[in-house]
Amino acid sequence: MADQSKNFDVIVVGAGFSGLYMLHVLRQAGFSVRVIDMASDVGGTWYWNRYPGARCDVESLSYSYSFDEDLQQEWEWKERYAPQPEILDYARHVAERFDLRRDIQFDTRVTAAHFNEDTSRWTITTDDGDRYSAHYCVMATGCLSAPRRPDIPGAELFGGEQYHTGLWPHDEVDLTGKRVGVIGTGSSAIQSIPQIAKAACHLTVFQRSAHYSVPAWNGPLEPEVQNAYKARYPEYRERMRTSDAGILYDTHDINLKPAREVPEADREREFEKRWKKGAFNFQNTFSDVTKNQESNDLYVDFVHRKVREVVNDAKLAELLCATDFPLGTKRLCVDIDYFETYNRDDVTLIDLKATPITEITEDGVRTSAGHHELDVIVFATGFDAMTGALNNIDIRGCGGQALREKWADGPRTYLGLAVAGHPNLFTITGPGSPSVFTNMIVAIEQHVGWIRDCLIWMRDQGLDRIEASTAAEDEWVDHVRQLGEQTLYPKAKSWYMGANVPGKPVVFLPYIGSQHTYAQTCEKIAAQGYEGFDTARRTSDVASATEVDLGGQPEAVAQP
Ligand code: FAD
Ligand code: NAP
Repeated sequence: MADQSKNFDVIVVGAGFSGLYMLHVLRQAGFSVRVIDMASDVGGTWYWNRYPGARCDVESLSYSYSFDEDLQQEWEWKERYAPQPEILDYARHVAERFDLRRDIQFDTRVTAAHFNEDTSRWTITTDDGDRYSAHYCVMATGCLSAPRRPDIPGAELFGGEQYHTGLWPHDEVDLTGKRVGVIGTGSSAIQSIPQIAKAACHLTVFQRSAHYSVPAWNGPLEPEVQNAYKARYPEYRERMRTSDAGILYDTHDINLKPAREVPEADREREFEKRWKKGAFNFQNTFSDVTKNQESNDLYVDFVHRKVREVVNDAKLAELLCATDFPLGTKRLCVDIDYFETYNRDDVTLIDLKATPITEITEDGVRTSAGHHELDVIVFATGFDAMTGALNNIDIRGCGGQALREKWADGPRTYLGLAVAGHPNLFTITGPGSPSVFTNMIVAIEQHVGWIRDCLIWMRDQGLDRIEASTAAEDEWVDHVRQLGEQTLYPKAKSWYMGANVPGKPVVFLPYIGSQHTYAQTCEKIAAQGYEGFDTARRTSDVASATEVDLGGQPEAVAQP
C-alpha cells in the first residue's frame, strides 16, 4: 500500500530564504510540497550562524524579500545592518505570515536523492531512514551551509570549549573572564572578534591572511529614513533586480570609470566619500576593482592607509594590512570596530604565516613560536562553499550517476539551476549562477520564480521530465570559466575558487557576469521553450504522484 503522506509533487531541501519562498510559490501554484531541513527551525544561515556580532553586510531594507508588498511594508528593521536575531525573527515572521511551517519537516537531514528513470521521480532518503517520493527535487541547501574546520592535530585533546561560528550553540555561550582564541580573520571572525574581545579576559587571534575590511557605519534605522525608503520600494526593488549585484547603489558617473584613469585628487575624494558610506559602496567606487591590478592597487593603498590610521602599533598595523590577494577577490569584509579592537591591551594577534599552528593541545594552541593557553577556541574557518552541502547528499541521476563523481573536477551545471543527467532536479543559487556575488535574496527570488514558472509550464504541456542537455551545460560551464578568467579573482585562494578546502578542485564557482544579464538569459531560455533542456513525457505508466510505494527496503542503485 503506497504511503501517500510521503509522495509529493516537489521535495525542497532547506528552509532558509530559498526554501521558504520556494514552498510559498509552489503551494500557491497548486503543487504538493514538502520542505525538509536538518535545522529545528526556519532561517538557514540565520538559524546556524549565531556567533556574537553576526549580522548582514547588505543593508536590511535591501536584504529582505520583495515578493509581497504588505510584508515589506509591515516589517520594521531596527538597524541599518540587522543582527542575526532580527533576521531570524524576520524568517520566522515570514513562515508564520504565509503559514509555511505545516509543510516543513525539521530536524531531518536528507542523506540521499536518487532518480528513478522508469517513474521520472526522485526518492529522497533521510537520516531517520524515511523515504519520500517526489516528481521534482529542489535543492535549497545554501551556498554557505557546510561549515569546515581545518584538520589540526590534537583538536580532540583540547579540554576547553570549541565552537565553529557557523554552528554556534543555541544556548548562551558565556565568554566572560575566559581566554579565547579565534582561528581565522574572514567575515565571521571580523564580525565576532570585537564582541568576543569585550567579553573575554584575553583574546588571541590566529591570522593566516589579513583581510580587507570596510566599516559598516551601522546604527539605528530612524523611522523617517525607513519610511522614505519603503515609499520607494517598487522603484528600488526594480533597480536592485536590474543591477549587477542586486544592491542599490547611488548611480554616479564616477563608478563607471576605471580607478586608474581618474586623477589622483578626484580619486582620493571619491574613495573617501564611498568609505564614509561604508560596506560595498566602497568596492563600487570605480568600475574595475576586480578587473585591473593597477586599479586594485590604488584601492589597496587607500585601505592600508585607513588601517594605519586606526591601529596604534605600527608593526601590528602592517600585519593587519591585507597583501595576499587583490581587494574584492575574497569577499570584502564589513566591520564594526574591527581594527580598533587591536588597540586593546587584552588582544593579541598571532601571525600564522611567520609562526604556523603546529598542534592543538589539552589547554591551548601551539605555534612554531610557542604555546597559547586558552579556555575556548573559536573556529571562524569558513565553509565548503557552493558545492559542500550538495556533495554531502548522495545525489544520483540517470544510470545511478553520482553528482559528487560527476563534479570530481569541479561542478558542472546549466545556469547553476540544473545538471545534465539529473532530470527534474533544480539547485537554487547553485554553482555557475551569480548567487554569492549578489544580494542573495535578489538571486534567490529570481531562481525561485524561474523554477516555479518552469514547473507550471511542464504541467501545462503535459510533460514530466526536464533535463539540461550536456551540450548546453558544457557551453555554460565554459562561459562561467571564461568570465572568471577575465578577472583578478583567480589570484586569490578563496572559497569562490574552492581553494579554501584542501583537495577541492580549484575552479571558478559562481557566475561573475551581472545578475541582471543573467536573469535576462534565464528569461530568454524559458521564453524559447526552455532552450538547452530536453523534455519528455513519462517513460512508463508505473507511477503517479500518489501511487509510489515507499514501503520496504531502499532499492539498490546501480553504481556508475
Ligand atoms: P541557507 O540559508 O544556507 O539555508 C540552507 C538550509 O538547507 C539550511 O537550513 C540547512 O540546514 C539546510 N540543509 C542543507 N543541507 C541539508 C540536508 N542534507 N538535509 C536537510 N537540510 C539541509 N548574503 C547576503 O546577500 N547578504 C548578507 O549580508 C549575508 N550575510 C551572511 C552572513 C553569514 C554569517 C553567512 C554564513 C552567509 C551570509 N550571506 C549573506 C549568504 C546567505 O547564506 C544567504 O544570503 C541566504 O541566507 C541563503 O539562503 P538559502 O536559503 O539559499 O541557504
Ligand atoms: P572565510 O571568509 O572563508 O574565512 C575563513 C578564515 O579562516 C580565513 O581567514 C582563513 O584564512 C582562515 N582559515 C581557514 N583555515 C585555516 C587554517 N587551517 N589555519 C588558519 N586559518 C585558517 O569564512 P567566513 O568568515 O565564515 O565567511 C564566509 C562567507 O560567509 C563570507 O565570505 C561571506 O560571504 C559570508 N559571511 C558574511 C558575513 C557578513 O558580513 N554578513 C559574515 C560572515 C560570513 P585564509 O584567508 O588564509 O584562508
